[in-house]
Amino acid sequence: MSDEIPEIESKIASPTIDCPSCDSILPHELGEVTCHVCAAVVKVDHKPTRDAWMDEKVSCPSCSKILRVGVDERPCALRCSSCSTVFKVTRKVVKVEVDCPSCERQLRIRPKPGKRRLDCPACSESFFVTF
Ligand SMILES: [Zn+2]
Ligand SMILES: [Zn+2]
Ligand SMILES: [Zn+2]
Repeated sequence: MSDEIPEIESKIASPTIDCPSCDSILPHELGEVTCHVCAAVVKVDHKPTRDAWMDEKVSCPSCSKILRVGVDERPCALRCSSCSTVFKVTRKVVKVEVDCPSCERQLRIRPKPGKRRLDCPACSESFFVTF
């Protein structure tokens, strides 16, 4: 037995916003967001996202009851009104597409700030991307 809290991924992503000082993609969060590339602190807010988070419906991982989240932050904790299971609604993982420079196949990856190496599954070419 583990007492890990079950997690559900939110279906609503924070908007993609570029860092105003270095143009890399900021982490997909709202509030005071720190750019992982240049360390600038940027205030990001987006009312439509918060409203959508508030109204998002998720199904309880234990009894499948549909619950309205009613919280305008992600991640957040929720308690099922029917079976009392506590679970977490996490941020949506945003994926971006990058083209392999050698065979032009599109790879879908999670944008992690900073420079990283990718290996193309189609042609085994290694290349670097920076966010
Ligand atoms: Zn930056
Ligand atoms: Zn439940
Ligand atoms: Zn390739």
